[in-house]
Amino acid sequence: MLLEGKICLITGAASERGLGRATAGLFAEHGAKVAILDLDEGAAAAAAAAIGPCHRGYGCNVTDKTACEEAVERALADFGRIDVLVNNAGITQPIKTLDITAGDYEAVTDVSLRGTLYMSQATIPAMKAGGGGSIICMSSVSAQRGGGVFGGPHYSAAKAGVLGLARAMARELGPFGIRVNSIAPGLIQTDITAGKLSDEMKQDILKGIPLNRLGDARDVAGIGLFLASGLSAYVTGATIDVNGGMLIH
Ligand code: NAD
Repeated sequence: MLLEGKICLITGAASERGLGRATAGLFAEHGAKVAILDLDEGAAAAAAAAIGPCHRGYGCNVTDKTACEEAVERALADFGRIDVLVNNAGITQPIKTLDITAGDYEAVTDVSLRGTLYMSQATIPAMKAGGGGSIICMSSVSAQRGGGVFGGPHYSAAKAGVLGLARAMARELGPFGIRVNSIAPGLIQTDITAGKLSDEMKQDILKGIPLNRLGDARDVAGIGLFLASGLSAYVTGATIDVNGGMLIH
């Protein structure tokens, strides 16, 4: 049990086959109480109930600062403190530079980047009051290698922005005992690419993965557990790759 008694908020964790949901399940297995935040309150509550009776689900659009603050207030009312925040919510679009509209840009950067900022801002005061915490930000190999997996350049830019934001927050918040780290997954089989990734595309991608398989949501959840727990007590400002060797640098 690596997270006994810890209170963990995870955004974008309602999606059944998603990285957030797998992380929520693994955290719960390790004794955490989890609050799942997602766009639809009913879906968030159902996802929380699916991992056990002592978890909660709240409707929250992470691009809306007031909604983030309200969700954190609800978590504090239900659980009394917050130890871990996983900024996992994100969307992607497989489009090329010249096709990115203003709306596409806003949609993609807002969820990953603005959402990570707003949720962190909403949560940091409670972590400071509690004497510390761990913030985990979901980036992507796309930020490091310049896309070329699935998302467009605006997705790479949003996820690269997440890395910079996380590192700067790590520097600023270290003195308060708050660690901030990022995870950079490669291609993990979830619904984010649902229906848009052909078998041919998968075979092409596999050629560049030394471990010779696409990732599983549990592969990412395990790194989330490490970063949330005391095992990583002296790790902050780091980016952990979970990509099967797709990018070795
Ligand atoms: P997913 O589509 O299965 O889940 C994303 C979740 O985010 C959904 O439940 C969705 O409802 C929620 N969400 C979307 N917009 C939101 C908003 N404004 N507010 C709150 N919740 C919102 O995707 P996934 O594959 O589990 O991806 C999770 C994270 O990991 C994303 O940030 C994604 O960019 C990142 N990532 C995924 C992969 C991959 O291959 N699956 C690779 C690298 C990074």
